[in-house]
Amino acid sequence: MTVRTRFAPSPTGYLHIGGARTALFSWAYARKHGGTFILRIEDTDVERSTPEAVQAILDGMNWLGLDYDEGPFYQMQRMPRYKEVIQQMLASGHAYYCYTSPAELDAMREAQRARGEKPRYDGTWRPESGKTLPAIPEGIKPVIRFKNPTEGVVAWDDMVKGRIEFSNSELDDLIIARSDGTPTYNFCVVVDDWDMGITQVIRGDDHVNNTPRQINILTALGATVPNYAHLSMILGDDGTKLSKRHGAVSVMQYDEDGYLPEAVINYLARLGWSHGDDEVFSVDQFCQWFDLDHITPSAAQFNTEKLKWLNNHYMKQMDNEALAAKVRPRLEARDITVGNSPALASVVGLYKERVSTLNELADAAEVFYIDLHPDAALMEAQLSAEAIPALRDFAARLATATWDAPSISALIKEVITQHGLKMPKLAMPLRVMLTGQTQAPSVDALVVLFPREMVLQRIEKNLAK
Ligand code: GLU
Repeated sequence: MTVRTRFAPSPTGYLHIGGARTALFSWAYARKHGGTFILRIEDTDVERSTPEAVQAILDGMNWLGLDYDEGPFYQMQRMPRYKEVIQQMLASGHAYYCYTSPAELDAMREAQRARGEKPRYDGTWRPESGKTLPAIPEGIKPVIRFKNPTEGVVAWDDMVKGRIEFSNSELDDLIIARSDGTPTYNFCVVVDDWDMGITQVIRGDDHVNNTPRQINILTALGATVPNYAHLSMILGDDGTKLSKRHGAVSVMQYDEDGYLPEAVINYLARLGWSHGDDEVFSVDQFCQWFDLDHITPSAAQFNTEKLKWLNNHYMKQMDNEALAAKVRPRLEARDITVGNSPALASVVGLYKERVSTLNELADAAEVFYIDLHPDAALMEAQLSAEAIPALRDFAARLATATWDAPSISALIKEVITQHGLKMPKLAMPLRVMLTGQTQAPSVDALVVLFPREMVLQRIEKNLAK
């Protein structure tokens, strides 16, 4: 049987980390098995669905590289099909009209609660052999209910959670069409999964309670019931529900914050799934390894530090030119003109080991392209009286020095020896002059990144003060 999976987001907000992981797992499962991955937009909640949210989902998937083979299908465009299947179910006796008004339903539930019973539809309009139904009331537009089996259990072997059983006596006769004829959520999902030939439904475990109802309807339709894999929720860094504070933001926010899609994919892949002790792997490797057996049924915990670590890993691995191409637009967005000297590729090459995100890389690179004015207090704190003549001497000799790191390193050592200084006495103020910061790569590597004139100018400017 060819694998067919789907991602079925409701376009009521951005694609967040949890949704992205669901999409990734469904996608990877299809890719691993040479199957088909389908995108379906569940937009029947017209109040809450927006075109912007659809676009945000498409953008997020595109950024992550999660391509789909079929779709996007929009449920709102499939209404005639749902209505057709409802008619089919009425005809086969698997569904029936129910004329109980909303007010009567409320009263029914109220009375049940008062008796300490679980509130449920009492089956007044459910046809049974030998049962006489009440007379159809005037002026009431009926809903359509699914005739759920009353006995036995509905069970499935969840590919993540193991066997799950519900007793049919616990399940109400679900409304599948509202009184205005529009189909309800669970029914649309069932018809779609059936029509689209879905073989594995991989989704969040907030849908576990929908699954027995969906299985019963699929069975009534004579459809093959797919396998289900319900993924556990993702908790925040602190073990509480994932919130905006930690990751429940749009995946595009990660782009904005300077994360590489490769890092986010690798990170999401390990969020609840494992392959031995492997932490770092490419998306192709993931698609080969991925299976549903190694998903933990317990909740996965978000770990920002690990994401940063992975991002640093992928930045380090990247070719300097390619990395520069990712940093350049970030600098340009800050209205910084990135000149040729120093070359941005050399700058990012020197700094990529030391930072976690593209934005931090842009922060580090920025100082090479602006008219830098180091913080006066920082300069003062780092520039001791005895360093001033040493720096003058250094600048004078720099004017004719060979412009490579070993030569500059040798020159620095000569100067500090002659002036009887320890390395930091010279290196620290020099770093501040050149970058405005004390945190910087080795000072010889830093100096040679710049054109000679620029180094001399930055030293002079700060010594003159
Ligand atoms: N539309 C549902 C959601 O966004 C998913 C339904 C499903 O995967 O079956 O939570």
